[in-house]
Amino acid sequence: MQNTSDLIVILGTGGTIAGTAVDASDNVGYSAAQLGVAQLVAAIPMLAARRLETEQVAQLDSKDMDFATWQRLAERVATHLARPEVAGIVITHGTDTLEETAYFLQRVLAPSKPVVITAAMRPATALLSDGPQNLLDATVVALQSFVGGVLVVLGGAIIDAQQVRKVHSYRLNAFAPAEGGHVGVVEEGQVRWLSRPLLPLLPLIPLMPLMPAFGLARIARSVDAWPRVEILFNHVGCDGAVVRALLAQGVDGLVVAGTGNGSLSSGLEAALRQAQAQGVMILRSTRCDAGPVSASETALPSAGALSPVKARVEMLLTLLGSSD
Ligand code: ASP
Repeated sequence: MQNTSDLIVILGTGGTIAGTAVDASDNVGYSAAQLGVAQLVAAIPMLAARRLETEQVAQLDSKDMDFATWQRLAERVATHLARPEVAGIVITHGTDTLEETAYFLQRVLAPSKPVVITAAMRPATALLSDGPQNLLDATVVALQSFVGGVLVVLGGAIIDAQQVRKVHSYRLNAFAPAEGGHVGVVEEGQVRWLSRPLLPLLPLIPLMPLMPAFGLARIARSVDAWPRVEILFNHVGCDGAVVRALLAQGVDGLVVAGTGNGSLSSGLEAALRQAQAQGVMILRSTRCDAGPVSASETALPSAGALSPVKARVEMLLTLLGSSD
């Protein structure tokens, strides 16, 4: 008898994995989001025997990912995860904003089944196209995973949503955990779990010691009413003029990627304190590739170890929640 919970649903959103170029040797001059997710699956013979469903949720280059697509994607993931026959979800995505979507879905849904996001650094037409192997690996992880949560699978590596970062603009192995190690690796259709706490073969356990799900209902409002949260940097000669320009335009929150341990130039700090006094939410992150920003009672609030883009997701959700 067939296992009743071995169905994998593959949701397509576009990206380079669905991209095509006129010339197979052209790895950069291609159009992303050209092939449907069903075509991507059909190109992988090893998936033919699997119980799969596909659904095209969006078709875009992830540099253009938007709140409306996030809302739709989160709703489709939640709907499919609620089906008892579904073992897990795979999402095909562009690499550019993949880490933001991964963190967003983890925080909104905190799924108890695996939700595996994959992508490609080369279009589907490339001489060395990484998409098919990545999609096959992601499906394997969704089927074999005994951990719930949002995972990212690329280049044979499994990374969790909190740690994952795009660290290279060109090479195939473009993603890495900010700190710590990989959750596991996929080799020849087998997952090898590396993360020590995951080694006991427990039934689906939450991957991260994370906050409870923010919830779909709280992101359901019209995207026109979502808060405006911008990211800015500290840098040599930074005088806070960008903050003042944003204040003049109207902004609800600012994530500042500070230098080092979240340090800010005097001019930038003064401008941010002025914004805070006017009711703008501020979080201090770091422009370093990894590491936390230490909290202190006298400094502007810290984003902990979240990267600037993930701190922005956190702030968006906090602001959405505070205006419930
Ligand atoms: N610009 C593409 C995207 O993010 C890049 C990729 O998928 O690798 O959709």
